[in-house]
Amino acid sequence: APSIVWFRDDLRIDDNPALVAAVSRGEPVIAIYLLDEESDGFRPYGGAARWWLHHSLAALAPDLEGISARLLLRRGPAEQILPALVAETGAGAVFWNRRYGRAEREVDARLKSGLRDDGVEVSSFAASLLYEPWTIATGQGTPYSVFTPFWRACQAAPPPRAPLDAPTTIDGWAGQAGGDDLDEWRLLPTQPDWAGGLRDAWEPGEASAHRLLDEFLHEKLAAYDTERDIPAQGATSGLSPHLRWGEISPNRVLHETEQVRRGAGAAVAAGATRFLTELGWRDFCSHVLFAAPDLATVNWRREFDAFPWPPLNEAALAAWQQGTTGIPIVDAGMRELWRTGTMHNRVRMIVASFLTKNLLIDWRLGEQWFWDTLVDADAASNAFNWQWVAGSGADAAPYFRIFNPELQAKKFDPHGEYIRQNVPEWGTDAYPQPIVDLASSRKAALAAYDVVTRSK
Ligand code: FAD
Repeated sequence: APSIVWFRDDLRIDDNPALVAAVSRGEPVIAIYLLDEESDGFRPYGGAARWWLHHSLAALAPDLEGISARLLLRRGPAEQILPALVAETGAGAVFWNRRYGRAEREVDARLKSGLRDDGVEVSSFAASLLYEPWTIATGQGTPYSVFTPFWRACQAAPPPRAPLDAPTTIDGWAGQAGGDDLDEWRLLPTQPDWAGGLRDAWEPGEASAHRLLDEFLHEKLAAYDTERDIPAQGATSGLSPHLRWGEISPNRVLHETEQVRRGAGAAVAAGATRFLTELGWRDFCSHVLFAAPDLATVNWRREFDAFPWPPLNEAALAAWQQGTTGIPIVDAGMRELWRTGTMHNRVRMIVASFLTKNLLIDWRLGEQWFWDTLVDADAASNAFNWQWVAGSGADAAPYFRIFNPELQAKKFDPHGEYIRQNVPEWGTDAYPQPIVDLASSRKAALAAYDVVTRSK
């Protein structure tokens, strides 16, 4: 009876415990990816994510063929498709790597018990985080809401397992089972084709994830700690979409970083510590999402429910989205995002602060725009970071710490290099006037925040 390995947020063959388990079972292997946008509570992917997913699957299929397995594609609710595939192929076992959103966990739990009731072996594995969210807890057994003690507890926990090598060959199932053609899914934009900038900026897939990591560790790690906040510098790894889609595992990243750190000088060591801490933030976002599954819609600090968001100013929202606010660093970030599907972390913080504080637009609208436009759009990291900037989140920056985008630009883009890269008309008459006054909008934000503090 063949084994099914169900690919989800783990589009890779390296360090893939579900795949390794399927292979070790010793029966022919059926690899499947399901496009499930119909199960209850599933959030449809945004446009940039769909673009990435298409290319990531297009890269995974030949990687699997290289080790003699075919990737089967099917579309629909997992609770229909998977049991049907089991019945159709007579599979005796199903393997997958875990996901952490509530709707996904519920589907997985129901599938697991249903299939087991039918006598099918089902096993799930840890593959997408360094530490499973429920394994890290405070002394009281509760989830952490502050990063530093969370990360300290991670360091004190048993270390993540060593990464598993990719199987070199698989006994691919030789039976017949019809699948979809990837193009039928229409994940790519056509009219208009807005993905030109994404194609220039990215190469989805496992091979390029490993190349980026290598390049980062050998060429950039030593300067990472000092330059990671300078958007014009290209000092960061660029790994976030690859991690989001699981083209590379955080275990692999950790392991390779530790190798490079060993015996290296102080700058590399500092870079490594900082880089791994950022990976720790990634874990922390999932830890918080696991405890607060509605993170993308509900204030983590419920007192923020009292925040008096004014009626939506549609024109201001559109100017923010299009990068025509007249605040150069904000416009540079928003245009980088639209063109390339990503934005430097420092600038993400600046544009998010500007939207929620200077424009007084609800963070959820910013979260949605990022969800649609980021290639690394992630249920945990996006929602967590938006709430973090808005002040409503776990371990959040206090609300009254409002970024001044002009000072931020002076500090992190002192020569205007990043701004010029993204806003070529900056400094000419063609560049718009600011849509808000930074000083008075800051005051209005603080006054609105007073309502939250008084409602406590
Ligand atoms: P590096 O500096 O090379 O960091 C290495 C890895 O650490 C990243 O690839 C990422 O996986 C992780 N990481 C770094 N910073 C953070 C962080 N603050 N939170 C969580 N993980 C982090 N990141 C996403 O992956 N998906 C999102 O949807 C997302 N939305 C964001 C929204 C806002 C408003 C903000 C302020 C940040 C958001 N981030 C998100 C976090 C961060 O901006 C990106 O992970 C980072 O810019 C990716 O670039 P990099 O891979 O070169 O990072």
